[in-house]
Amino acid sequence: MVEAERATLFTDNRYTVQAKDEVCGARVEITGKPGLVAAGMRLASLRGRVRAGFAPEQLTMGQWEAVGKAAGKRVRWTAVKGAVESLRGVKDDGEIAVMREAAILAGRVWESVLKLVKPGVTEIELAAEIEYGMRMGGATGPAFDTIVASGPRAALPHGRASAKPLEKNELVVFDLGAILRGYCSDITRTVYVGRAPRKIKRWYAAVLEAQEAARAAVKPGVTAGEVDAAARGVLDSRGLGRRFTHSTGHGLGIEVHEAPRLGRGVESRLATGNVVTIEPGVYIEGTGGIRIEDDIWVRAGGAETLSQARRELLEL
Ligand code: ZN
Ligand code: ZN
Repeated sequence: MVEAERATLFTDNRYTVQAKDEVCGARVEITGKPGLVAAGMRLASLRGRVRAGFAPEQLTMGQWEAVGKAAGKRVRWTAVKGAVESLRGVKDDGEIAVMREAAILAGRVWESVLKLVKPGVTEIELAAEIEYGMRMGGATGPAFDTIVASGPRAALPHGRASAKPLEKNELVVFDLGAILRGYCSDITRTVYVGRAPRKIKRWYAAVLEAQEAARAAVKPGVTAGEVDAAARGVLDSRGLGRRFTHSTGHGLGIEVHEAPRLGRGVESRLATGNVVTIEPGVYIEGTGGIRIEDDIWVRAGGAETLSQARRELLEL
């Protein structure tokens, strides 16, 4: 709970030691009640007119009822959308250093499993190797369920790893990220099992060009929609526009999907210190999909790509 003069973390005695270790800039209050109820009771104890803002994205209906009841009728509530998130969107140099490490770790782990990519290995086996590698590299875990989607399953933008074995002559999409010291990375690479036919090479080149165009468009002050248009323009010009079925990217940080969304017509502007993904893709039902995703730091005068894994089409 943030007040004009102080901030308080309400938690219970399971976290006494951890809170002492991890919390800075806020008082810790150990309470026998759920944290939100304790916060509500604090509000109820304040004198005069009390106005409180809350983050509607973060509260369930049940939590909202509990805190409202504890605070009583005297408190006037305002839903403050995205306030914390927009503060969090601007990263300082220390946060960027961790995010760079997380991005590089994801790329390194992906490159390390390429030797296992061959017909017969299952998507789940590859995902397990990736998650093991991330933890061995210092991650506390994956930032999301690792996606390994092969053949027709690669046409699902969010196809989680399944028991399907890889086959010769198909695309494989890997989408993975690590949580390192609290911060997420999120990268995607697509490979071909066998020698890729000309059509696949053409699609891949178009996605890569779209990704490069969008990365080149990232700088402070540009709108999220302009970055999206840079990717979409390339794919439109190759006749692949309608195969690109999602937005170009999203903010990244403590959570894997944060503001801003880099989608069609989005008018919010990128600011120095933002970290966003750039991840155009094309999806052909029945055949497969191609997506390339990197993590980009918006910095003074331009942008820097934090993730470093190979981007050319690998035929394995
Ligand atoms: Zn991703
Ligand atoms: Zn992503």
